[in-house]
Amino acid sequence: MNIKKGDKVLITKGKDSGKSGKVASVNPKENRIVVEGLNIMKRAVKPKKMGETGQIVSVAAPLNASNAMIVCPLCSKPTRVGSVTEGDKKKRVCKKCGGSF
Ligand SMILES: [Zn+2]
Repeated sequence: MNIKKGDKVLITKGKDSGKSGKVASVNPKENRIVVEGLNIMKRAVKPKKMGETGQIVSVAAPLNASNAMIVCPLCSKPTRVGSVTEGDKKKRVCKKCGGSF
């Protein structure tokens, strides 16, 4: 999985297809990512005390990383990325503009 926390991604499948957002967290084991403000699920929260009313909260649910493409920070286009090693750092290479980031 090439996507990292803080990346900008474009959703390519599902109900938020065509929208983009910032990656809030990644789960490489499950190949899932959470994108700020996208794939919103409404969850009912039960009242904890007597007299309180239940609430509906919106939370960003994880989505499959294969349904998202990285948006290149250099050319601002959604792209596939390759990887290169520069010194001891692993960098990703944009297949559209060839820049590494
Ligand atoms: Zn690029």
